[in-house]
Order: sequence, then structure tokens, then C-alpha cells
Amino acid sequence: MFDLLVVNTSLPDGRTDQGIGIRGDRIVEIGTGLQGEAERVIDAEGYLLSPPFVDPHFHMDATLSLGLPRMNQSGTLLEGIALWGELRPTLTKEAVIERALRYCDLAISKGVMAVRSHVDVSDPRLVTVEALLEVREIVAPYLELQLVAFPQDGYYRCPEAEEALKRALDMGVDVVGGIPHFERTMDAGRASVEALCRIAADRGLRVDMHCDETDDPLSRHVETLAEQTIRFGLQGRVAGSHLTSMHSMDSYYVSKLLPLIAEAKMAAIPNPLINIMIQGRHDTYPKRRGLTRIPELIAAGIIVGLGQDCVMDPWYSMGTGDLLDVAHLAVHATQMGSQVDKRTLYDAVTVNSAQIMGLKDYGLKVGCYADMVLLQARDPAEAIRLRPNRLAVIRRGKIIAETAPEVTRLSMDGRPSSLDPADYMPKGTS
Ligand SMILES: [Zn+2]
Repeated sequence: MFDLLVVNTSLPDGRTDQGIGIRGDRIVEIGTGLQGEAERVIDAEGYLLSPPFVDPHFHMDATLSLGLPRMNQSGTLLEGIALWGELRPTLTKEAVIERALRYCDLAISKGVMAVRSHVDVSDPRLVTVEALLEVREIVAPYLELQLVAFPQDGYYRCPEAEEALKRALDMGVDVVGGIPHFERTMDAGRASVEALCRIAADRGLRVDMHCDETDDPLSRHVETLAEQTIRFGLQGRVAGSHLTSMHSMDSYYVSKLLPLIAEAKMAAIPNPLINIMIQGRHDTYPKRRGLTRIPELIAAGIIVGLGQDCVMDPWYSMGTGDLLDVAHLAVHATQMGSQVDKRTLYDAVTVNSAQIMGLKDYGLKVGCYADMVLLQARDPAEAIRLRPNRLAVIRRGKIIAETAPEVTRLSMDGRPSSLDPADYMPKGTS
């Protein structure tokens, strides 16, 4: 007897006609044509059942603040940081909590069940930290929120940041952040990477730094981050976010850099939406778009997770909470257009990011948490192409969000009476 049974579903690895039996909060059985008694049965009608989407890079303290106190006119990262600096002193804990919870509703509706959010520790009041720690507790039943102590104004550049970052970690923030390219000098950036890795090693924490988020080919803090990862024995616990300078670096240098990152077992977290939007702003034409070298990172054996970074905030006026938007843009921007490539990028918004966050019992396997998303698409490549409706979002064995399928009624002589976008799946590609 199952509590919930999903039948006739397709799985991301290509298996079709699968059944998944759930008891309590766990997956207890998976099999071809699986049937059985269940309190509730979902007929998936051949649609794709996926593990949850995971967003490994986000800013939940700033989300949904678009227009407060004004819009970013230049569209640059630097004006975004300045604008956030204007907004920050006016923030209240209640307002940050309310915006974050509204965002989590949206993310859940898109099947996102884990988010790593950077939280700014530059204001010593730490209103943002207090708010997001509370949000982490509130949303825990349906979304795992991991927090990164992020010195937005620079660990050394902002006089209060050193102390505030430590205090945030004492309060229970999970991960050590940094922003070496925003320090005053390359040397100060390097020193910040070293100091922050030391803190992570001393406290047994993970590291995730905004690293080389610039078009400067000589911004090479990722090299330092890899070196310090090895030095402090942090292999497997460190991620470099953005890495956009790698877009502009000399290719010989990159051929030496990638094996170093791989040796350090560092993960890379590009954020295609924001990187494409923000980088290259000082160029005329040709205009660099600044996305890091995703196919080359993957080929070097480096684990790549794709993040959203921002949704409607001082840096980015767009965003829907949908990691499939991120993968969809990544397909175009990286020219990874084959079906195999799309599969690879699907992993970057699901399993890879789960690994980067260190999520426990994640995945569609017996014994794992019964966390899954039913999509109106037949396979992962199609999911990225269509960005389809999330028919059911299941968390710990309970349906927590449902969206009706998109079906268009047609009224044209001699043509079908209805249209399901998922029926346009190309033949022979599964
Ligand atoms: Zn960020």
C-alpha cells in the first residue's frame, strides 16, 4: 500500500512507463509498469517526472525589490551595487521576509525546492541575515534554503564587513561568501580569498564566492580560489560563482587554469541570464556577452550548476523563478544545442546543483525523499525547449503545487481540435 503512486511516467534517464511508489516522505519503489494500492494515484500520461529544480545562486534579500528606490539606468553591475546601497539602510526585517516568502511561492510553483541565497552582510545591522534566517525556518517544510554570508561591498573594502561576516556565521549562516573582484586592488582581492577560505576551513563550512564577475581578462581570482581550496583542504566544498572574466581571458592561460580548478574539485556556478545582461557594457561592437566557458568547464570534468542570481531586483528587471529559463538561455548562449548537450544542461539545474549544495537524499531513487516535479514535456531536452507547465510539485510525498496542462482548443476545418505543445517532440531522440 502506497500513500502516493505516480504511474505511466518518463524519467530523465530515458526510461518510460515507470511507476514511482511513495510511502511517507520517501520513494519506496520504482519500476516499469509499477501498479499497486495507493491512497492517491497520479496518471502521468507519459510526461516527465523530474527531481526538483535547484537554484545554486540567488539573492533572496534583494528579490522583488525592482524599482526601489529607483531603476538601474546604466544596467551595470556597479550601478546595481550602488542602488542596493541606497535601498539597504531603509530595509526592515518584515519587508525582507515578506518579499522572500512571496518569491518562494513563485519558485515552488516552478518546481524549485532548494535555493542557495547569498545574503548581504555589509550593513552591520544584519537585518537581511535576521530576516533570511527566519525565512529559512518558515520555508523548510517545502524548500531548502541555504544561506551564504556575502560581503557585497567588499570584505576589506567595507570596514564593517569582516566583523559582520563572522557574526552572520555565528548566527547560523551556512556558507562563506566573498567578492574579490570588488576589493580595491588585485592584492586585496587575493588577500580576501585567502582570509575567507581560512574562516571556512576553521569552521568546517563550504565556500561560494562571487568571483571575477567582470570583463577584465586579468581578473584572475578564480586561480587564487582554486589554489587556496587545495591549500586549506577544502576540495569538494568550494564553488566559484560567475567566473565571467574567463570569457575574455587568453585561451592559453585558460588551458592551464581549467585543470587547476578540476584538481581543486571546485564547482562553477555561471548565471547566464544576469551574465548576458550585465557583462560587456563597456564594449561597442563586437560586444562581449561575458558568459564563462561552460562547455570547456564541463569537458574538463568540473561540476557546473546554473543559477538565476536575480529576479526583479537592482541588477535584473526580469526573472520568473524558473530554472528552465536559465537552461533555455544557456543552450543559446553556449551554442550547446544538441539533444545530448541539453541533457547535460538539464543536469546543471537539477542534480549538479544539488551536489554543489550538498543536498541529502536528493534524486529519483528508492530511499530518497519523495521530492519531484511532473512536467508537461516528455524528456529533459523537451523540457528546456518548452519550459512547460509544472503539472504537480510533490514535496516529501505531498502535492504542494499544481498547474493545469496547457492545451489549446483549435477551431479550423480539417485540423485537429486541440493542441498539446508536448506532442511536438522530435521522433527518435529520446
Ligand atoms: Zn550573485
